[in-house]
Amino acid sequence: MIDAIVPAFLARLPASVRTPCHGHGDLYVHSIRSTPSATNVGKAKVLCAACPIKAACADHAIRRGETDGIWGGLTPAERRARVRPDCGTESGWRSHVQRGESCLTCREAHDDRLRAQRLKRLAHEHAEHGGSLAGYRLELLLGLPTCVRCRAVRQEYYAERPHTAKWYRRGMADRSAEAA
Ligand code: SF4
Ligand SMILES: [Zn+2]
Ligand SMILES: [Zn+2]
Repeated sequence: MIDAIVPAFLARLPASVRTPCHGHGDLYVHSIRSTPSATNVGKAKVLCAACPIKAACADHAIRRGETDGIWGGLTPAERRARVRPDCGTESGWRSHVQRGESCLTCREAHDDRLRAQRLKRLAHEHAEHGGSLAGYRLELLLGLPTCVRCRAVRQEYYAERPHTAKWYRRGMADRSAEAA
């Protein structure tokens, strides 16, 4: 930690009490926004190990989401690893993804949120446009039967396009053959 940053718990210490990092700011943060060297990290950790407020210092940095320097003997990566994802929330889901973890609670919650968003968008498409291409895609994504209005818009859209995709032309041809 650099001396310029004085968290409340340090400011409350009597003036006579100096934590081991005092005067060694360069060991803790090489320069703002860069990582201290491995040697400095080692030295800083040794100093922190003897600090009476080590736990409070680490807690403070973790709670504040401090991204730089050594706090409470922990590097930024070590602090990140100690933050427990807030399971069930979108940020919890993102933390798991970043760490390459799988969490059923977060995945289910994420899927539920995604589905709710898609349903909302679909309702908007129907209310605003009656039927639309976007609505058609949303119905497919949601695993819902496509509605007459969205299907009609889609059919009209592709019918007007000279270079429709092969798979679509084939699908249309099959359907026409079935209808005949
Ligand atoms: S734990 Fe380390 S960085 Fe925190 S106050 Fe103590 S010596 Fe300084
Ligand atoms: Zn989780
Ligand atoms: Zn529809």
